[in-house]
Amino acid sequence: MSTIETKVEPRQVPLAREGSPSMHVAVVGGGIGGLALSAGLRRNGFDVAVFDRDTDVAATGGYHITLDERAQSALERLVPPQIMRRLLASGSALRMRERDAFWDHRGRLIGHGPDLTGSASVDFDRITLRTLLAEAVGDDLRLGKEVSGVDHDEHGTPRVQFADGSSVTADLVVGADGAHSVVAQHLAAGPTNSPAGIIGVSGRTRLEDLSPAERKRLGSRSALAIGPRGAALYIGFLDPVGNAALDAPDLRMSVTTCPTYIWGAMFPDTADTEPWQDLRGEQLQTALLDRFGDRKWAGHTLEVIARADRESVTAFRFTAASTDAADLAPWRAGSITALGDAVHATPPTAGMGAGAAIRDAADLLDQLGATADGTASLTDAVGSFEAGMRQRGSEMLTLAMKTVRRILVTDTPLGAAATAVATPILAAATRLRP
Ligand SMILES: Cc1cc2nc3c(=O)[nH]c(=O)nc-3n(C[C@H](O)[C@H](O)[C@H](O)COP(=O)(O)OP(=O)(O)OC[C@H]3O[C@@H](n4cnc5c(N)ncnc54)[C@H](O)[C@@H]3O)c2cc1C
Repeated sequence: MSTIETKVEPRQVPLAREGSPSMHVAVVGGGIGGLALSAGLRRNGFDVAVFDRDTDVAATGGYHITLDERAQSALERLVPPQIMRRLLASGSALRMRERDAFWDHRGRLIGHGPDLTGSASVDFDRITLRTLLAEAVGDDLRLGKEVSGVDHDEHGTPRVQFADGSSVTADLVVGADGAHSVVAQHLAAGPTNSPAGIIGVSGRTRLEDLSPAERKRLGSRSALAIGPRGAALYIGFLDPVGNAALDAPDLRMSVTTCPTYIWGAMFPDTADTEPWQDLRGEQLQTALLDRFGDRKWAGHTLEVIARADRESVTAFRFTAASTDAADLAPWRAGSITALGDAVHATPPTAGMGAGAAIRDAADLLDQLGATADGTASLTDAVGSFEAGMRQRGSEMLTLAMKTVRRILVTDTPLGAAATAVATPILAAATRLRP
């Protein structure tokens, strides 16, 4: 086994711990997937170092992250039980929410999602999730380290190069560096995703800041409204205090402390919306309200945007990898691999990106376990992991792209006509339902 070494700085990466399988793993990117993997490797005695360009894990954007039952059970295998308990004490349980609602652009109810009382899914603040994962990784997380490239050294050992000129080698390098991954682009010899054709604008609004009528209409539920000409509004309900997944207030560390709507507006990404990328806060909020007004959305349906915390309003472009499993991780398995958004960047319309990254991490850890007892080579272990990841990524992308297409089709002449005709009929049918 090779050892990890730095070129410019004194040795930073710890030597193998006593009793460890003595495999050295360098993880590029300390986001959700990279931290989850590193926590699991550390917990299982591997020698790990995870590098992120951020200097503070809590100083990151992002709103709520949904983890379904599969993602939670993967996480349980990766982090210590006490971290899991603190996380659940800080999460908002879907089972306590009313059924999701579907609205049209006039605020008419079109339909409901399934009954959530049996749902095991939990929504978390992204900052809380990342902070707790970082705690599980401890001093194996190296912040302020921007990775500029990966390659193999003259002995064929995988190597990570940093923007500051230093480098490290390891037995295995894992790229968990998100949608614009340096590692995955090196492996795939090009980008692993492309713009999905939608621009999103997100923000957060406290329930108490809405009028009584809108509070009543929106309720303790999430909702999606799709209007004509490619305009859509997702409104997620988050209440980690009132709807705590684990009733243990002394363990709670949620960023959201009162019932809050986390919303995301979506429009086709066109030359008209290009300037939104450079707008923030009130200017972006005004541009968004004007655009919905042009699309004839009823005034009351926009209250959630108009009464948002202005500082929270930000624009982001959706990116998506291919839905075809064969296109994901299109490289031969070896001692450099990647996971999460680096491989299967997914628009937030499925709410599964972070969960998939965590499941990737748990699967890679399981596969690496087989190398420790000699039942598999590193290449075989990585190959098995990548095969599972392709499947997982493809399923999630297929789901997410369905909603993206549903939104985009309303921006075609036929789609606009179909939306205009179908939604009042659906709304009336829903009202008549017993
Ligand atoms: C700021 C932000 C906000 C998000 N908000 C939401 C949200 O509200 N809801 C939702 O469902 N999903 C959100 N996502 C997406 C969701 O978090 C991802 O789908 C999920 O976390 C996938 O995990 P990942 O580990 O693959 O990538 P990420 O969690 O994106 O982590 C990638 C990490 O790599 C680091 N990195 C990237 N390039 C380099 C480099 N060259 N050198 C060193 N480090 C590097 C980044 O700093 C980041 O920490 C957000 C992602 C980000 C980055």
